[in-house]
Amino acid sequence: MTNQEIFQRAQQTIPGGVNSPVRAFKSVGGTPRFIAKANGAYIWDIEGKQYIDYLGSWGPAIVGHAHPEVLAAVQEAATKGLSFGAPTEGEVILAEKICELIPSIEQVRLVSSGTEATMSAIRLARGATGRNKIIKFEGCYHGHSDSLLVKAGSGLLTFGNPSSAGVPQEFVSHTIVLPFNNLEEVKKAFAEVGQDIACIIVEPVAGNMNLVKPQAGFLEGLRELCTQYGALLIFDEVMTGFRAGPKGVQGLTNITPDLTTLAKVIGGGMPVGAFGGRQDIMQQIAPLGAVYQAGTLSGNPVSVAAGLKTLEILSRPGFYDVLSKTTTELVNGLSDLARQHNVTFSADSIGGMFGIYFRENIPTSFAEVQQSNIQAFNVFFHAMLDEGVHLAPSAFEAGFVSASHTEEILAKTFAA
Ligand code: PLP
Repeated sequence: MTNQEIFQRAQQTIPGGVNSPVRAFKSVGGTPRFIAKANGAYIWDIEGKQYIDYLGSWGPAIVGHAHPEVLAAVQEAATKGLSFGAPTEGEVILAEKICELIPSIEQVRLVSSGTEATMSAIRLARGATGRNKIIKFEGCYHGHSDSLLVKAGSGLLTFGNPSSAGVPQEFVSHTIVLPFNNLEEVKKAFAEVGQDIACIIVEPVAGNMNLVKPQAGFLEGLRELCTQYGALLIFDEVMTGFRAGPKGVQGLTNITPDLTTLAKVIGGGMPVGAFGGRQDIMQQIAPLGAVYQAGTLSGNPVSVAAGLKTLEILSRPGFYDVLSKTTTELVNGLSDLARQHNVTFSADSIGGMFGIYFRENIPTSFAEVQQSNIQAFNVFFHAMLDEGVHLAPSAFEAGFVSASHTEEILAKTFAA
């Protein structure tokens, strides 16, 4: 079967024929490539073409695809059953490990995706504060739940800001969307309706708008405002958790969020999400408190086994040194390449994440991200793909390096 044939078949049963922003291997045009297998830093499509993968399953594949130890852990767990609908030891050990690695997380609940983690954290914030409004930022993505989509008509209809068009306004009308890195706007919102604000949710490094870092004082300011007004600060570290660094972005700052959401890396490629934080807030969850939260497959033993083994591997000495070194080499290599070809280009990175921009300076806001030359990105993306290098298929999405991207692979990347 060719990519084209399976794509045509997919159109019959899957709306859009899988060519949705997050699932398609090639969402900026052309036929999606259907993946047959993956190993280390490589993936192969069903026609046998090999690619160096700088998307890493949209982030989770931090130790590389099909890591033998992760596979062995999954296989062992699967021989004992797939889901019991009852607590397991592994679930408790994974929860303990997350609390140990991220100090602001005193207690944690496991769920099955990043969306579930952010929805649950927001529901909990509303329950704990008795307030309704939430603040989110332009270009930050927190999943596909209603209240986190951007209001229709905001004009920011990119992948980083999926529109709520088609969703009844009452579902989104409690969300205040403000520009990232603009503390003054946040202050204004609190001055106007501070008593109604349940929480701020923020990607502390915004990977869904191509890696935009917080400017000095921005996250600190959010922390202060939340404390002053009794709102909760939620760091959405679904993308950055265990990827920007061993303790996520919060480990690189002195800021303690009230709640944190995680997914991607903590499942090692299997569906695991988590939300956790201050014990007094987490205890608002039933049966101790009134906020309902449950999931049929939450904490299932096979996913938990993959997550535990992945966290064990990345806790080994030197893991993040390798990851950061490889990312830096990649970014330097791309910058050199751009310079050789007189292309207007800038790039930034943190831990195992990188962002490239076809504009002169590294952006600090979503508006600036949008000034990146999208056409240049598309040309570059397709050229790289044809050469067997797979990047995030959107100019608004960070790319990811896994620890299996060796120097040999980097050499091949630039040969391409
Ligand atoms: N939050 C952030 C920061 C994300 O990057 C994503 C997904 O990319 C989500 C939430 C949603 O996670 P999921 O796709 O696992 O539902």
